[in-house]
Amino acid sequence: MPVKKFKDVVCRKWLQRETKNVVEKEGRKFFFCSPACKEKFEKDSEKYLKLVG
Ligand SMILES: [Zn+2]
Repeated sequence: MPVKKFKDVVCRKWLQRETKNVVEKEGRKFFFCSPACKEKFEKDSEKYLKLVG
């Protein structure tokens, strides 16, 4: 598997690896550093999806 970096789009921290805090949206997987960031994304995913592009 290729090495990938994952960005937490809520707090904008780079993650070294996949985490358990994952949300699947529009066929993409988004990883978060904590359940708190995951919750924020789920509540306001439209906003964050715009930021990621
Ligand atoms: Zn985070």
